[in-house]
Amino acid sequence: MFDGFVDEVNITVEAGDGGDGAVSFHREKYVAAGGPDGGDGGKGGDIVFLVDDNLNTLVDFRYQRKFKAERGENGQGARKFGRSADDLIIRVPRGTVVTDRESGRILADMSGSEPVVIAKGGRGGRGNAHFATPTRQIPRFAKPGFKGQKLELHLELKLLADVGLVGFPNVGKSTLISVVSAAKPKIANYHFTTLTPNLGVVKISEGNSFVMADIPGLIEGASEGVGLGHEFLRHVERCRLILHIVDVSGSEGRDPISDFEIINKELKNFSEELANAPQIVAANKCDMASKEQITAFGEYIKRLGLPFFEISAATTEGTRQLMNYTYKALQELPPLKVFEPDPQPLWQQADAKESGFEVTVEDGVYFVEAEWLEGILRMADMDDYESLQHFQLVLKSSGIIDELERLGIEEGDTVSVCGFEFDYVR
Ligand code: GDP
Ligand code: MG
Repeated sequence: MFDGFVDEVNITVEAGDGGDGAVSFHREKYVAAGGPDGGDGGKGGDIVFLVDDNLNTLVDFRYQRKFKAERGENGQGARKFGRSADDLIIRVPRGTVVTDRESGRILADMSGSEPVVIAKGGRGGRGNAHFATPTRQIPRFAKPGFKGQKLELHLELKLLADVGLVGFPNVGKSTLISVVSAAKPKIANYHFTTLTPNLGVVKISEGNSFVMADIPGLIEGASEGVGLGHEFLRHVERCRLILHIVDVSGSEGRDPISDFEIINKELKNFSEELANAPQIVAANKCDMASKEQITAFGEYIKRLGLPFFEISAATTEGTRQLMNYTYKALQELPPLKVFEPDPQPLWQQADAKESGFEVTVEDGVYFVEAEWLEGILRMADMDDYESLQHFQLVLKSSGIIDELERLGIEEGDTVSVCGFEFDYVR
């Protein structure tokens, strides 16, 4: 029914698997068998999120819910590496909060313009060229590529605006934003006009501006029993200030004071925080209202200690003063709320103690196999000191180091963990 506007959706993303390493031997005429020369597989593509300001809903994800990045190419003979796959870019509207459904962790708040890697592609497997040792000159095996990370995601659009317009349908919210900014929302005397939020930049003077959001009326859907009322409130959630618009003329037969109270109750039902957000009240349609109507409502609002403005969005009377005051009020308020991603990277989550492993010794090389470690290795950046330290800690706490020692490993021996090789250092 509300096709134009989707602000919450579940999707599945799967980063590309790494290509397999190759088993190959150098061949030359008259030479029976050369050395191993199988190249490594290429890396699988990452899943990358990027803000696209041409989008203002998550509606596209209704039609595509599964995203899979390409696999890395397999390695080839003659030490030829497989080509790494391109990343898969997923474009989202600004303000999209990405959550991992399994853990409930926020992975990213797509509020900035930097691309964010959400799921990591698997590294390529190593070709047999890596596995030659003095005592094992003909390694007839290579390693398969690592699996790409697969995640079930929840996407939620939480608009980024300094000011959120709230009020009953038809009170003039869209009209106001259209006269104080370049936004061109639909304006009509009809309760279901605003179904997508509109953002407008209100310019106060050169270099001084703020962003205002025209948010679909709370009551529009709620009164029809489709439960849209609260759905839309998530967009006000991050606003620094609420601009509450009331039709003071009562042109639709309602009472301005009761309108005001009903909306505030809705805000409170949604969250206490929202109910306590700074609020400015604008009595709109003053061109149609009587002096008595305006005074009665104004006195009520002033008794509550809230800033009160008389405006007519239709004639623009009073709108400049309202915007100037709003801008000044914003200067006193904390900046926009950005959700911090959970600081703990996924690859640190594996509970090392409970995970099994297997160590085999073959021609002096210590092979460690453990499925849970593959996840950690895939995420770890082995050129990064902290990653490496964490990796060593995991090897220790999981008992792998003890097991290697028990098997008689010595300084300088080769350890191969799921295809990743390094020299043992005590
Ligand atoms: P919204 O649903 O709150 O976004 O309301 P709209 O901006 O779409 O306006 C609803 C109706 O009220 C439209 O027909 C507007 O032209 C009219 N309207 C808006 N502001 C004023 C005003 O200040 N004075 C008068 N007379 N009509 C207004
Ligand atoms: Mg509207």
